[in-house]
Amino acid sequence: MILKGTGVSPGIAMGQALIMEREAAPVFRLAIAAGQVGREVERLAAAVRESRAQLQAIKDRLSREGNVPHAYIFDAHLLMLEDPLLLDRAVAVIREERVNAEWALREVSEQLHALFDEFTDAYLRERRTDLDDVLGRIQLNLTGSPGAPSLARLPGPFVLVAEDLTPSEAAELDWERVLAVATDVGSSTYHTAIIARSRGIPSVVGLAEATRRIPAGSLVVVDGTRGELVVDPSGPALETFRAEQERDRREESRLQQTRADPAVTRDGVTVTLRANVEFPEEAATAARYGAAGIGLFRSEYLLGRARQWPTEEQQVDVYRRLLEQMRPHPVTVRMWDVGREELAPGGPSSPNPALGERALRLIPRSPEPFRVQLRALLRAAVHGPLRILVPFASGLADLRMVLDLLEEVKNVLRRESVAFREDVAVGLNLEVPSAALTVDLLAPQVDFLTVGTNDLIQYLLAVDRADPRVSGLYQPLHPAVLRTLDQAVRAAAAQAVPLSVCGEVAADPLAALVLVGLGVRELSMTPGAIPRVKAALRAVRADRAREVAYACLSLSTAAEIEATLRRELAVAPAVVAAGEE
Ligand code: PEP
Ligand code: MG
Repeated sequence: MILKGTGVSPGIAMGQALIMEREAAPVFRLAIAAGQVGREVERLAAAVRESRAQLQAIKDRLSREGNVPHAYIFDAHLLMLEDPLLLDRAVAVIREERVNAEWALREVSEQLHALFDEFTDAYLRERRTDLDDVLGRIQLNLTGSPGAPSLARLPGPFVLVAEDLTPSEAAELDWERVLAVATDVGSSTYHTAIIARSRGIPSVVGLAEATRRIPAGSLVVVDGTRGELVVDPSGPALETFRAEQERDRREESRLQQTRADPAVTRDGVTVTLRANVEFPEEAATAARYGAAGIGLFRSEYLLGRARQWPTEEQQVDVYRRLLEQMRPHPVTVRMWDVGREELAPGGPSSPNPALGERALRLIPRSPEPFRVQLRALLRAAVHGPLRILVPFASGLADLRMVLDLLEEVKNVLRRESVAFREDVAVGLNLEVPSAALTVDLLAPQVDFLTVGTNDLIQYLLAVDRADPRVSGLYQPLHPAVLRTLDQAVRAAAAQAVPLSVCGEVAADPLAALVLVGLGVRELSMTPGAIPRVKAALRAVRADRAREVAYACLSLSTAAEIEATLRRELAVAPAVVAAGEE
C-alpha cells in the first residue's frame, strides 16, 4: 500500500510504525458498592504513583540532557501530587459519595478550579494550567492501562504515525527514537514539519487517514523527498530504498563539507544565512551547518508539554546559553507566539485561532508572562548580541503596546538596579499582511524586520497552512506574495532598516534566489537547508537573480513564475517547492 502526502523533510527512513491517536477520554460516573471503596481508593493511589514515576522520569531525563530549566517545571507538578487538597479530597469523595476514582478526581478538579478562579493574583490563577496538567495525567493513568507508553518512554526506534502532533507533544517526544514522522494533517509550514526538518528526520504530512489505515507495527518506508509512505514494501522495493538512503547520506556529507564556504554569489554579494530553532539543543545543529547566528528562536517551545511558563531565571539561562553557543553571531528570540489555549487551558478557544487572540493580542488581558520574558531577554542580552522579535503585530498600535511594555520593564529593572542591556535590538516579524503593507510606518520604530512568510502567505492567500486539503493553494511564489515582498523590501530599504526572511520559503533554494533577486540579504531557515541554499547562491550572479526576480513580478501565476525561475536560474527542484507548487 502506498499513501501519498506532502514531503516536508527530505530523505528516506524505514522502520516499525508506531501509531498515535488522541481521543478525549470520557469520564463515567459509577455508583460503587461499600465493598468496592477500598479498590477504588487503591486504583487512585496507583494512578498517582504512576504519575509521580512518570513526572520523575521526565524530570530526570531533562536534567540528564542538561535541560535544567525544563526539569524544574516538573518539581511543581510533583509537589501538587503530594497536596492533600488533591488526593485526600478525592479519597473522601470516593468514600462519601461512593463513586469511582475517575469521577472523584473530576469533582475535585472542579472544586479546585472554582478556588483558582477566586485568586486575584494573575500568577496564581495561571497555575491552573499546572493543575490541569497534573489532573489530566492522573486521569490518563486511571483510565489507561498501567504502564501505557508515554511520548517520552516509547519502545524504539520507530516511525511515528500520528494524526497530529502538537508543539507540546513534540517537546516531550524522545526524538532520538524517531526514525521518521508521518501525520494525517499538516502541510510544509506546519510546525511538526518544521521540527522534522530541523532534526533532519524524513517526514511526510497530510496523509489523511494514515493512522487508521496503517496496521500498528507494520514495516513502513517514509519517503520525505517524494511525499510517500509505503506500507510493507516488497523485498526489491526495500533494496531500492536502501540504495537511495545511501546516496542521500553521501550527498549530505558532501554538503556538510561546505560548512566553512562563504555564502557569496558569483558577483560577490554576501547573503547572511541564519538558523530557525525550536529547541535550545538545536543551536548545536545550527552551528554544525554553519549558521551565522539564530534568526528565529521560537521561544514558545520552552513551555513544553506541561504548558508551563518557564521562570525568569530559567529563561535567562536558556537565552544566555544560546548566545554562548552562537557567539559571535546574534540570537533572535521571538516573544511568546502562543494562542489563547496556553493562557486559559480548558477555557473557550477562539472560533478561528489563526485570527483570534494570539501572541501580543494576549498582552492586555494577561501581561505577566510577557513581562517576565522581556525581563529575562533584557537581562540575558548583557551576555551577547540578543535581538528581541515581536511576532504577529498588525500595525503601529500593537507594536507600540509592546514597545511601551518593554520601556515599563526597563524602568522596573532600573529601579531594582538589575543589570540589563539598554540598547537591545528590537525587531518586528512581518507576517500579517497589514504590517507587511505598512513597512514605511513601522520600520522607524524598530531595529530590524523579518518576514514570516509562513503566516504571511496563509493570510495573503486565505489558505490555512495546516490544512492538507488546501495545501495546493498555498503558493509561496504566488504573484501576490512576490509583490508584497517586493514592496516590503523597498520600504525597508528606504528607511535603512535591515529586512530578512525567516519563513520556510527561505529554505527552498529556488525561492531563496528570488528573495536575493528582490534585494533580501539575510535569510533564516531550518539548519539542514543551509548547505543547499548556500550552494544555490554560490552558483548564481546576484545581478542575474535580480533581473529574473523583476521579470517574475510581472507574471500572472505561481506556475509561470516557477517555470521561469527554473529555466533562468537552473536550480534543481527542492522538496518544499516540489511538494506545493
Ligand atoms: C512565519 O510565520 O513565517 C514564522 C516564521 O513563524 P511561524 O512559522 O512560527 O509561525
Ligand atoms: Mg508566524
